[in-house]
Amino acid sequence: MSSLVAALSPHYAARMFLTFRSPSRYVQGPDATSQLGRQLQLMGLTGPALILASAGSRARSGSLWAESLAAAGIPLVVHEFGGESSQDEIDSGVAAARASGAEVIVGAGGGKTLDTARAIAGTLGLAVVSCPTLASNDAPCAAVSVIYTPDSVYERLIFYPRNPDLVLVDTTIIANAPRRYLVSGMGDALATWFEARTVAEARTPNQVGGLTTITAKALARLCYDTLIADGLEAANAVDARAVTPALERIVEANTLLSGLGFESGGLAIAHSVHNGLTTAGPTHAYLHGEKVAFGLVVQLVVEGQSSDEIDTVIRFCRSVGLPTTLGGLGLADADDDTIRVIAERTVAEGETAHNEPFGVSARMIADGIRAADARSRTMA
Ligand SMILES: [Zn+2]
Repeated sequence: MSSLVAALSPHYAARMFLTFRSPSRYVQGPDATSQLGRQLQLMGLTGPALILASAGSRARSGSLWAESLAAAGIPLVVHEFGGESSQDEIDSGVAAARASGAEVIVGAGGGKTLDTARAIAGTLGLAVVSCPTLASNDAPCAAVSVIYTPDSVYERLIFYPRNPDLVLVDTTIIANAPRRYLVSGMGDALATWFEARTVAEARTPNQVGGLTTITAKALARLCYDTLIADGLEAANAVDARAVTPALERIVEANTLLSGLGFESGGLAIAHSVHNGLTTAGPTHAYLHGEKVAFGLVVQLVVEGQSSDEIDTVIRFCRSVGLPTTLGGLGLADADDDTIRVIAERTVAEGETAHNEPFGVSARMIADGIRAADARSRTMA
């Protein structure tokens, strides 16, 4: 995975410091897109701005961006995102940013758009703004990009020295996206507490190369409690395309709490299982958080956590529609070879599975996958 974590020898790890980091500014609310120019101004960002956006985002928000940035006196170009967070897309965005003399890169779209926007800004050393149009994962606040091959296989992570300068979340847009995306974000956010707890207890490095602060642990716990309290109501609000207080709290949990929680709290088996699952073609039809949710059940099983805890997690997943079985990820007929490849990828060198307080082998993960699947299938 990361050169950062790989570089942390046991000797260095013994001298790690408590470390926490975050975006400079987080803004969330209905119709927040109309505030983009004003918020850039408040951050002292004068442009020109390059907005990396999907065709859909551009169609929906293009005129609002133009109006809002013009009012703030910030020149703007829009560069269309091709769909995959890949090196090709990064290269294309870097060329467009250079051609337009951009001083700030704004990503407007889903997680892959934002990952690519960060990589463009990181390459050029520019300020970066995340405008997520989905609350489907914990990427918008992070100082890391997940890079895939052009055919959607997980490839590597790129780490940046700073988090995004601004994260601007328009909850009207989130409320108008399909329920599945919000629910997937809940799957990603659901793992946050359990992974942070593991990393804190194991005193292994968090995702920013330090030890987990009590601040990050508390935020991760708040993330979990918010999901349990408001998750179902927020999903139902999205079905009605309604912005409600429960939806606002879940958007904040999926985006801010989950983002701060995974970075400064840390990652463990759940996210490594996600990475392992991407080696199986049928899982490409499923979202990040859907794979993380199943990965979390695997983590809890491999850790030997209590039946109560595992059942609570599985019941929450079922209530909102997150997969907790292989069949739920298109792998109902997965043979032993498929599971073995997933498990081997899960424990590849540098994977966060190795943040557990015990040694983790491919065999343990394969057994955990089979056991998690059986438990979920047979649970009343
Ligand atoms: Zn995640």
